[in-house]
Amino acid sequence: MRSVSIKVKFSLFLALLLLLTVFVLSVFVLRGIQDHQQSRIEKELLQQTRLANLSIKQAFMISPPIEAQQFLRARGQQFAMDLAVYSGLHVVLYGKDGKKVGDSIPLNTSSYGVDNALRFALEGKIAYQREDASIFYLSPIQGPGQQMGVIQFQYSLSNDQRFYHTIAGLFVWTGAAVLAASFILGYLYFSRAASSIAKLNRSAERIRKGEFLTRPPLGRRDELGQLGQAIYYMSTEIRNNISGMKQFIGNVSHEFKTPITSIKAYSELMELYPEDAALAEDAVLHIGAEADRLTDMIDKVLRLSSAEKYDFEYRPEPVDLAALLLDLIGRIKAKAERFGVEIVPRLNPGNAWADRESLIHIFMNLLDNGIKYNVQGGKVVVSNREEKGRALVEIADTGIGIPEEARERVFEPFYTVNKDRSRQSGGTGLGLALVKQLTEKQGGTVELARVEGGTAFRLSFPVRPSFRTPPNKELT
Ligand code: ADP
Repeated sequence: MRSVSIKVKFSLFLALLLLLTVFVLSVFVLRGIQDHQQSRIEKELLQQTRLANLSIKQAFMISPPIEAQQFLRARGQQFAMDLAVYSGLHVVLYGKDGKKVGDSIPLNTSSYGVDNALRFALEGKIAYQREDASIFYLSPIQGPGQQMGVIQFQYSLSNDQRFYHTIAGLFVWTGAAVLAASFILGYLYFSRAASSIAKLNRSAERIRKGEFLTRPPLGRRDELGQLGQAIYYMSTEIRNNISGMKQFIGNVSHEFKTPITSIKAYSELMELYPEDAALAEDAVLHIGAEADRLTDMIDKVLRLSSAEKYDFEYRPEPVDLAALLLDLIGRIKAKAERFGVEIVPRLNPGNAWADRESLIHIFMNLLDNGIKYNVQGGKVVVSNREEKGRALVEIADTGIGIPEEARERVFEPFYTVNKDRSRQSGGTGLGLALVKQLTEKQGGTVELARVEGGTAFRLSFPVRPSFRTPPNKELT
């Protein structure tokens, strides 16, 4: 089943909300009308009762002295007629014994039982009773000294009821109109938002199919616009990542083919000239070197591509930098001597908070470059110090330097300034990319401090664990 569209849901919600408002309003207004009507009727009836009492009492006092009940029986009908004219209401008078002594509608045949109310009124209390559209209001008639009888007013409610129903009907119509109008207006309004959402949805769908966005999908500035912007950035990021990855894979296959082609060429030559001793000697040398290069490349490519995945393999600890660097200089000394390069340590006590294995890879690559891209009789100066809570390491050489325009690119995988020179020395163009990645994984930074008159790399590492996430590392 197709789910209900968001614009229908929203506009229905809006319509019901407004309907509820109208309903609550109508309840209060109608209740108010009812209360007002009630108190007006009570006031009016009380007033009429007072006037009736007054005129009966007055007439009794000025009449020749007779007994109160006799007086009422004699004059009751007249009083009822007069009071009815005066008040505009149907009036009935009762004697002390509860017998009718006057009725403004003499032939009245309606047989409303007001016995209960009458009993109350005979006991000196005001009582009223509601029947259909009438109120029977019964009140004692006070003579001088004691109660003479009871007067009853019949008040018709039909006018009040008509007014009440007119207002109630008005509210019903208003409610219906508000419901319809707010639904339509809400629907029109939310349609715009819904079409924006649909547009975002289509954009996401296109990205899924590999069609990347060329601009943000929405022109609005609100939250939906921001979401559109975010989707656009995401699309761009994915596209860049994919094209970076494609380029990386292209480079990997290209770079791997070169040594394999060379090995294959030697093996074919040896098949052709199995007796050629000089060729064999040459082949052994070259095949060995190419195999070494392949091994090195495979190692670095694997490290580069898995560095993202195996975070748990990093075990940061306080690493004594002076001791570690001295150890590494010792390991690479033989190579330095072969190249006629001197490694000069200028080390100070100090720790870095990092994974020891990663530090070894980082420094070995940099020391190796310092030797490879150096000149006969050149130097590589290795120094460290602590500054502003960071452990700084500098590896500076007196070698060939890096052209200014290559400065930005040397950290890219497979980038080499000079393919031939790099190849001669067994380089793959992956060393600095790995150095950068591993350093940043440790919460460190690496930069080129100098490119003329030799090259200097400056690295910084945290000295102690920080609770901030290191650059390029997301909390998972
Ligand atoms: P490679 O395996 O070719 O040495 P790297 O990634 O280590 O690859 O270095 C990339 C390129 O940067 C090198 O090919 C070289 O041209 C340049 N480079 C790196 N280190 C130095 C250095 N110390 N002096 C001069 N050039 C360097």
